[in-house]
Amino acid sequence: MSTVTDENVTAAETDTAAQAGPREGAFGNATHLACRECQHEVTLGPFYACPECFGPLEVAYSFPVVTREEIEAGPRNIWRYKALLPVPDDIETSPNTEPGFTRLLQARNLGRELGIDRLWVKDDSTNPTNSFKDRVVACALSAAVELDAKVFACPSTGNLANAVAAAGARAGIKTVVFIPSNLERPKQLNSAIFTDSLVAVNGNYDDVNKLASEIAGEEDGWAFVNVNVRPYYAEGSKTLGYEIAEQLGWRLPDQVVIPVASGSQLTKVHKAFQELVKLGLVEDKPVRIFGAQATGCSPVSVAYKAGVDAIRPVKPDTIAKSLAIGNPADGIYVLDICRETGGAVEDITDDEVTDGIVLLARTEGIFTETAGGTTVGVLKKLVETGQLDTSLETVVINTGHGLKTLDAIADRVSPAATIEPSYAAFRATGLGA
Ligand SMILES: *Cc1c(COP(=O)(O)O)cnc(C)c1O
Ligand SMILES: [Zn+2]
Repeated sequence: MSTVTDENVTAAETDTAAQAGPREGAFGNATHLACRECQHEVTLGPFYACPECFGPLEVAYSFPVVTREEIEAGPRNIWRYKALLPVPDDIETSPNTEPGFTRLLQARNLGRELGIDRLWVKDDSTNPTNSFKDRVVACALSAAVELDAKVFACPSTGNLANAVAAAGARAGIKTVVFIPSNLERPKQLNSAIFTDSLVAVNGNYDDVNKLASEIAGEEDGWAFVNVNVRPYYAEGSKTLGYEIAEQLGWRLPDQVVIPVASGSQLTKVHKAFQELVKLGLVEDKPVRIFGAQATGCSPVSVAYKAGVDAIRPVKPDTIAKSLAIGNPADGIYVLDICRETGGAVEDITDDEVTDGIVLLARTEGIFTETAGGTTVGVLKKLVETGQLDTSLETVVINTGHGLKTLDAIADRVSPAATIEPSYAAFRATGLGA
C-alpha cells in the first residue's frame, strides 16, 4: 500500500475501514481462532471463549514454507519467528520491548550434582523486565494495537504486571495493571516505575482475575493481555520452544521441565515443538514434558498424582507467588500433555523452593526467583524419585529473576563477615590460605 493511496482515502472510506476491523495482515499468517474443545471457528478479533461451548480459543494458521536460514537471518529476539506468530510482517517497526533469544546454557555443574549427563538451562531471567512474560506481552501488545485498544491491562501475579507496564510505556499506550495486594514489594515497584496506574486488590490472584474479566466486559477498548486477547498472548510462549530447538542446533531435547501457573507456557512449548516438526525444521522425536508446581499451590500436580482429569481449585499458600494460580485455565491440557508424552507433574515444599534457588545459584551462577527455584527443585525431585531419565538430554526453564524475590532467600544465605580493616582481622575469618 503506497502513501499516496493512503492520503487519497476519504473520511467516509476511513470510517468503513475502522468498522471492518483490523487491517489486512494484522495477524500475519494467522487465519482464524479455533476452539480447543469443539474446533468451532471464530474470526480473528478480541475473542477468547468459544460461543458454542465456552472452551478456550486458540490461534490457527496457514503457514507458508519457512526455512532455518530465514529464521537465522532474523533479529536476535522473538520476531525471528514472526512468520509463526499472530503478528504483522512489519512488527519490528512498532515500538516493543524486543524480548527473547535468551541464553541456553549448558549446566555442567548442576548436571554433575544431579547426575544428569546433558543438562541445559534456558535462562529467561534476562528478558527486558526479567521474566518470560515479556514474550507473551509483546504478542498481546501487537494484538492490542491492531485491534485499536485504548488501554493495555492485566491481572497479574507480578511478572506480568512488570512486563505489561514496561511494554505499554514503550508503545505509548495507557496501561492499568491489577495485582494482589500482598505481592512482593520489588515486584510492585517494578511495575510502579513504568506506570501510575497500578491497582492492588485485596484478594488473591483468582479474585484479581475475576475482577479483570468483569472490567473487560464492562469497559470499552480495554485489552486485557491474559483475558480478552489471551489467544494472541499465549502464542508468545511458543518462542521458548522454538529457541530451545534452534539453540540446540535445530533439534528437540528429550526432556523439558517447565513451571506451571495457568499452564499456558507448558502447553505452548509443546505446541511449538509440534509445529517445528510439521514445518520440517526439526526431526520428529519423543519429548517428555514435565510440569513443576509448589506444594502450596499444586492443583495440577495433585490431579496428576490422583490419576484424575478434573482439577480442583485451591487457595494458594506458597512463596512461589508468580506460580500462585489456584484455578489454572490450562491445567487440564497440562495433564494431557504430561501424561501423553511420558512426563509427569511434581510439586515441592517452600523450603525445597528456596533450596532450588540456592542450588542453581551455587552451581551455575544464575539467580532465579521462586518460580525457578520451584522448577530446579522439581527437577531434583524428579531425579531422586526416578521419574526423569538422567541419561537423556534435559532442558530446565528458568522463567524469572531472583532480584524480584529477595525475601525468599534473605534468611538462607550467610550474612557478610564484618571485620576491622586489618590483615589480622581478615585471618580471623578463616578465609585465608
Ligand atoms: C507467569 C509465570 C510462569 C507461569 O506461566 P503460565 O503460563 O501461567 O503457566 C512461570 N514463571 C514465572 C516467573 C512467571 O511469571
Ligand atoms: Zn467450542
